[in-house]
Amino acid sequence: MFDCIFCEIVNKRMKSEMILEDEDLVAFKDINPQAPVHILVVPRKHIESVQDLKADDMSLLATMILEAQKIAEKNNINEDGYRLVINKGVNGGQTVSHLHVHLLGGRRMTWPPG
Ligand code: AMP
Ligand code: ZN
Repeated sequence: MFDCIFCEIVNKRMKSEMILEDEDLVAFKDINPQAPVHILVVPRKHIESVQDLKADDMSLLATMILEAQKIAEKNNINEDGYRLVINKGVNGGQTVSHLHVHLLGGRRMTWPPG
């Protein structure tokens, strides 16, 4: 058996502040927000990282981005702007090995990222 906290959240075995649930993905508030709006868009399917996406997963990835757009609009950050982030591995800063897109907004982001 493997432990994955995002699978636990997807399967409702662990609580989260859920924003959206549909057939293929869920979105919930990040437990340690780095911006006024910090929401994670997560596929129900356990895919370890962006590096593990296959050609067959492309419509899922597109859906994740379209949902992020909608959530940005609902949170009124679409006009001022926002950042979508996918971390991969140790150097990328990935801490949860289940693919997710961070939607960050509500403040001015800096560049380069830390
Ligand atoms: P990453 O570092 O890109 O893998 O992002 C993982 C994110 O998941 C971090 O921003 C964490 O704050 C967030 N996180 C970890 N556990 C939970 C949880 N139980 N509920 C919501 N967000 C979480
Ligand atoms: Zn998982």
